[in-house]
Amino acid sequence: MKEIVVDYPWETFPATAETREVASGIHWLRLPLPIQLNHINVYLLEDDDGLVIFDTGYNTTQLRKIWQTVLSSFDLGKRPRILCSHYHPDHFGLVGHLCEVYGFELIMAQTEWLIASMLPNVDNKLMLSKQLDFYRFNGMDKQALARHLERGSNFKETSSGAPPRYSCIKNNDHLRIGGRDWQVMTAAGHTPEQVCLYCADDKLLLSADHILPRITPNTSIFSYNPGTNPLAEFMKSFRSFSHIDEKTLALPCHDLPFYGVQKRIRQLIEHHEERLDTLYGLCDTPKHAYQLIEPMFSRSLDAHQEMFALGEILAHLRLLETQGRINSSVVDDVERFQKN
Ligand SMILES: [Zn+2]
Repeated sequence: MKEIVVDYPWETFPATAETREVASGIHWLRLPLPIQLNHINVYLLEDDDGLVIFDTGYNTTQLRKIWQTVLSSFDLGKRPRILCSHYHPDHFGLVGHLCEVYGFELIMAQTEWLIASMLPNVDNKLMLSKQLDFYRFNGMDKQALARHLERGSNFKETSSGAPPRYSCIKNNDHLRIGGRDWQVMTAAGHTPEQVCLYCADDKLLLSADHILPRITPNTSIFSYNPGTNPLAEFMKSFRSFSHIDEKTLALPCHDLPFYGVQKRIRQLIEHHEERLDTLYGLCDTPKHAYQLIEPMFSRSLDAHQEMFALGEILAHLRLLETQGRINSSVVDDVERFQKN
């Protein structure tokens, strides 16, 4: 991949539990995460009706305490709201807690809301057994399966629950927050209906996990929904981002705020095109997804990262298949892919 081309107006992160005003009335808060991606950025938007927070962080005791400290220095107003970008636990994890304790109302896209509402009801054991079936079908060996069995599944615990009602937002809705007009932009790929917010007047984009400055958002096929084509949707989603002004300040949920959204989009597309070509080259003989992890990811991966790596490879294989470049066949209950 080519060198990073975006510009960073700040070189450092705000300290834990401290906020930094990145535009008038918009405050950046960096929260620690107990996973390798060790932080998430959330944003607090002042509004006459009440504070609006964009994403919440993981469901941990540490983050509950940080929120308590942070919220004590903000005026919540009469109608505080959470706008949650997508259902992933680092974004949605504390929604239930914040709504219950501080009286926030939730705003979310429908698909994201439905998945987030389903998560607290997941049977961890059943989920794990379906995951292992899926890994086996994709060629995972016994040793690796044992590692995943040992790691278990904690889907249920990652959420503090979903409140019993929410306000639904859709693509191209407009929200008035803090005297600004924000265009709701939903994008599929990382999740089915992730929400970004764009203020054209002030050139601000809350880009969630859709456009990150350095890492590529995970675009995976997972065991609970194996028939999807998320990479195709991710690539297509950028067509509706073409009007975003290049002088826009992007406020992502991971890493540093940056300028250069269009450059970054081009780079993300190029990155996936390169990965598709590499993967295509590796399919000269039939290969299952698991054996493609090693040549595609040079570093060693733990069980958590291996799950994402497998999902990413499957997403690329699915796209190659729908492009008519490769085909798949199932032999001995394992799916393999080969060039046409
Ligand atoms: Zn995410």
